[in-house]
Amino acid sequence: PIEPAFPKPRRSRQAQTVWGSRIVTVGGDAPVRVQSMTNTDTVDAIGTAIQVKELAIAGSEMVRITVNTPEAAAQVPYIREQLDRMGIDVPLIGDFHYNGHRLLTDYPACAEALSKYRINPGNVGKGDKHDRQFGQMIEAAMRWNKPVRIGVNWGSLDQELLAGLMDTNSLRPEPWDARLVMYEALITSAIGSAQLAERMGMDGNQIILSCKVSGVQDLIAVYRELARRCDYALHLGLTEAGMGTKGTVASAVALGILLQEGIGDTIRVSLTPQPGEARTQEVVIASEILQSLGLRSFVPSVTACPGCGRTTSQTFQVLAKEIDDYLRAQMPVWRKKYPGVEKMKVAVMGCIVNGPGESKHADIGISLPGTGEAPAAPVFIDGQKALTLRGDNIAAEFHQIVENYIEK
Ligand code: SF4
Repeated sequence: PIEPAFPKPRRSRQAQTVWGSRIVTVGGDAPVRVQSMTNTDTVDAIGTAIQVKELAIAGSEMVRITVNTPEAAAQVPYIREQLDRMGIDVPLIGDFHYNGHRLLTDYPACAEALSKYRINPGNVGKGDKHDRQFGQMIEAAMRWNKPVRIGVNWGSLDQELLAGLMDTNSLRPEPWDARLVMYEALITSAIGSAQLAERMGMDGNQIILSCKVSGVQDLIAVYRELARRCDYALHLGLTEAGMGTKGTVASAVALGILLQEGIGDTIRVSLTPQPGEARTQEVVIASEILQSLGLRSFVPSVTACPGCGRTTSQTFQVLAKEIDDYLRAQMPVWRKKYPGVEKMKVAVMGCIVNGPGESKHADIGISLPGTGEAPAAPVFIDGQKALTLRGDNIAAEFHQIVENYIEK
């Protein structure tokens, strides 16, 4: 028998990131969440607040901002205030490296305004200082009742831990793989830090882990093992994925494989924006990854064929793009007005070969006439042929039919 394919259930604990009345639950059976990060200087509070707003409107359910200096920490409450004024209640996550213990202690208003702290155990100090400074950040999280993400990155791995593991392995008589030792160091750093935080009194349900690497196969290997060894909620992302098509494809492949296996509770697509490309593009891609796996629905999906020699006319390509743009643009209003509209499927097809069949699978579909076909475009609604459009106004008339369908 043929078995259906679907993502395996996740088995992680739940953590909550809260701002005001907005509660974003992560892990367990909560939806896989989309995250993003600003690339503004946090000292530029207005610029940062505007970018957070853009990312939130694009669909980012949590937004991380850099908190790297006293000046940046001092601006965080003001950024929060600006967002609240604009009605943007997205939780803000503070990204700390090297001096987070001091900033969270010296700037209590910053510690309070943030909804979660990202701690990189590879960047909290060396030797004796490591546990003390890490502990100061955990204490701040407990004092302000905030969850933490313990985020390990192989570009900033705890070098003492790695060196120790390398030394141990160098004594082994049999051949060993330095790459696997690196994986071990990443996982040990993440889980060891989480256990240390729990020994300090932190609730394990308030801890989220990540182990980011930049290679697809490395990420899959590390997260499979991380998920096997613990049940903390996991944040997933291919770090430094790169630019454009390469970064998009690599992220989709890596995250797709892991999500299908039930691994990953929040995701970020870390794209380097190309000149002129909106920062929000990474949010759109992350949302598309979840939607294409059937894990979540954000916007109605438009099925369109690629076109071929049967469609010398560009009408169907133009119409497909127009309908897709229109549906996306309406979503901020429709999401509240028409609950469930995001699950709708629209088909725009180029000829009779696959047009009627694909249109019947959609909620609403149109099969445009290909070359040599009669100039008629049958429209299908809820799987049935409803009417046929003819003439020069097919695009505008179909547009209206889609609008009427959604309103009805
Ligand atoms: Fe070509 Fe028709 Fe197939 Fe579209 S549906 S790709 S136009 S054969």
